[in-house]
Amino acid sequence: MSPRSRAVKTPRRPADVDDAPEGERSAAGRLLRRMGLQPRKGLGQHFLVSPGVLERIADAGDVGPDDTVVEIGPGLGALTEVLARKAGKVVALELDDELAEALKGVFADQPHVSIHHGDAMKTDIATLVPDSKPYKLVANLPYYVATAIVRRFLEADHKPSVIVVTVQREVAQSMSAPEGKTGLLGVATRFYGNPKIVSLVKPGSFYPPPKVTSAVLRIDVHPSPPVQVPSESGFFTLVRAGFSAPRKQLKGVLSHALKAPASEAEGALLTAGVDPTRRAETLTLEEWAALHRAGEAAGWQL
Ligand code: SAM
Repeated sequence: MSPRSRAVKTPRRPADVDDAPEGERSAAGRLLRRMGLQPRKGLGQHFLVSPGVLERIADAGDVGPDDTVVEIGPGLGALTEVLARKAGKVVALELDDELAEALKGVFADQPHVSIHHGDAMKTDIATLVPDSKPYKLVANLPYYVATAIVRRFLEADHKPSVIVVTVQREVAQSMSAPEGKTGLLGVATRFYGNPKIVSLVKPGSFYPPPKVTSAVLRIDVHPSPPVQVPSESGFFTLVRAGFSAPRKQLKGVLSHALKAPASEAEGALLTAGVDPTRRAETLTLEEWAALHRAGEAAGWQL
C-alpha cells in the first residue's frame, strides 16, 4: 500500500479527534498504526495532540490571511491544519518521507497548503518561499536539531519576520535570557531578534510524551542587526572566543583564545568601556559590538 493511499484511508485527522488529552494521545497513536508507522525517535517525533496548545502556537505568531507560513516538521499535520485555517499560505517541510507523502494526500484539497519532502538543514529556503515574499516560521521543532534550525533561519539571507517555535524549555530559556545574563546562544539570538517565551508546554500535550518540558518561543526578527559590527562572522568569532572559558575574566580569556598579548586584550576591553575583569555572560550586545570595533582597530584578525 502506498503512503498516499494510507493517508486517504485514514478516517480521522488529528484535529478531529476527541478533546480529552488521553483520547488525543491514543488517537494519534491509532493514526500512526493505521499508517503502519511508529513514531521515529531519531527524527524527534513527538506529535502535539492538545488542541489548546496548537491554537496557542498559531496565535503566538499572529497568523492571519495575509501571512505565508513556513512550517518545519508537520508530522501528522495537526499544527498544519490549524495554520491552514488561519494563514493565506502554508508551506510545510517534512523529512520523514512516509509522513510527507501521506500529508500530500491529506492536504490535496487545500491548494494554499503545500507539502515538501526535505531536510530543514539542507533545503534552500528560496525553494519554499520566493526571496521577495515575507514569511513567518511556525513549528513544533524536533529537539535534536531545534537550535540549528532556528539558527539557520536567523542567519539566512531571506529571514522570516517572526519565528514561533516549540522547543525544549532550557533551549528557550537560553535563547531568551535577559541581557547581562546571556550565554553564546542568547547573544546570537538577540543579535538577530527579540526573543520571548510565550508559554510552557507539558510533556502530556504530546504523543509520545517527551521526558522534558517544552516552551513556545517567539522571536521578532530584526530587519537589520540592532548593533553595528565590522562583519557578522568576525563578531561571532569574538563572541565565541569570549565564551570559550565563561567563568574566567575576559582579559585572560580573549588573550588566550585570540593569541593576543594580555595588554592588548585589556586595552581593547578598556577602549570598549568594558571592565577587563568581567565575564562573558555579563556583556550586553552593544558592549560586544564595541569590543569588536575596538579589537578590529587593534588589528585582531577576526
Ligand atoms: N508538527 C508536528 C506536531 O506538532 O505534532 C510534528 C512535530 S515533531 C516534534 C517534529 C517533526 O519534524 C517530525 O514530524 C519529524 O519527522 C520532523 N523532522 C525531523 N527532523 C527534520 C528535519 N531535519 N527537517 C524537517 N523535518 C524534520
